[in-house]
Amino acid sequence: GASPIETDAVIVGAGPVGLFQVFELGLLEIKAHVVDALAYPGGQCAELYPDKPIYDIPAVPVCTGRELTERLLQQIEPFGAQFHYGQEVSGVQRRDDGRFDVETSKGLHFITKTLFIAAGVGAFQPRALKVEGLDVYAERQLFYRVRNPAEFAGKQLVIVGGGDSALDWALHFAQHTAHKAASVVLIHRRDGFRAAPASVARMRALCEAHEMQFLVGQPTGIEESNGRLTGLKVTGADAVTRVVPLDALLVFFGLSPKLGPIADWGLALERRQVVVDTEKFETSIPGIFAVGDINTYPGKKKLILSGFHEAALAAFGAAPRVFPDRHIQLQYTTTSPKLHKMLGVE
Ligand code: FAD
Repeated sequence: GASPIETDAVIVGAGPVGLFQVFELGLLEIKAHVVDALAYPGGQCAELYPDKPIYDIPAVPVCTGRELTERLLQQIEPFGAQFHYGQEVSGVQRRDDGRFDVETSKGLHFITKTLFIAAGVGAFQPRALKVEGLDVYAERQLFYRVRNPAEFAGKQLVIVGGGDSALDWALHFAQHTAHKAASVVLIHRRDGFRAAPASVARMRALCEAHEMQFLVGQPTGIEESNGRLTGLKVTGADAVTRVVPLDALLVFFGLSPKLGPIADWGLALERRQVVVDTEKFETSIPGIFAVGDINTYPGKKKLILSGFHEAALAAFGAAPRVFPDRHIQLQYTTTSPKLHKMLGVE
């Protein structure tokens, strides 16, 4: 393959904590490459709640998940980290020279002095609806996320799930003027939801008004015709199986985070979290650090602000490995001419 990329640091994960890790490393003159399984930065903030407000970022009274991501990208800009999206970090191996070989699912190979695992809850993968023969329709008529709502306008939609995503999209396609579906059938295994009560009430009102339908039951099979999915077989509590005709099937069973390859790197784990110390946030393998939601230590709280603190100490913990001959000093961004130069604010 291509020749390996030699670097000071590789960061696994471009969530808020991985992004801020770039900043803290940058202040110490440590150059980083960032890899994320998703096609864009922001981690949970981008994937799970881009438009929801966050109220507990210090000195930012309110911002959405998307805004937080944008601000972090702006803040780390001066450090010129390189981003590699749409690929998982798959393999990590210690080399004889003390560095690490790091490989991605798309065949990138890094040789790095330090590794920062900021992998959050793991690489995101939607939980699948397991019905025989259904898989082949993925991204054609079966969708686990809505990228472009307009493409579902005027269609017969079947939506499966009982959480906020299922309810929100059912309401959207039943009501939205430009995206209104020909029909919306919501299917959930029981007549109870894990969603905002107001959404549930709205859904019931729309059913009363014949603007959509709700069916209690389990999807148990499919109907096909000429290579197209034409219907979903749904078995109700009465053991009767009905066929619900459809053009598109949207399934929202939540994202199941897959720790995936990280479990195989030989790191000490506790309940699928990476064990770290609280001085350097270093793992059981010297030179590999873990920050943000992925790590665990006594008193751990899965908050963005905790991850930011962890990133700062991990950077200081890593600096002696990158610059063995240097005395590492804490400098204030307010007053340090050297930092001003690096930040481009002279
Ligand atoms: P994540 O945001 O999970 O990002 C990790 C990234 O790593 C992901 O993009 C993933 O694709 C990637 N990844 C994982 N494994 C690999 C791999 N092997 N290779 C490549 N990439 C990989 N926190 C607050 O502090 N305040 C709030 O108000 C708040 N509200 C929230 C609301 C909701 C609905 C949710 C779900 C969470 C909320 N949180 C809040 C929690 C907050 O989002 C997390 O603490 C934060 O996202 C953790 O950041 P992270 O960078 O550690 O991980």
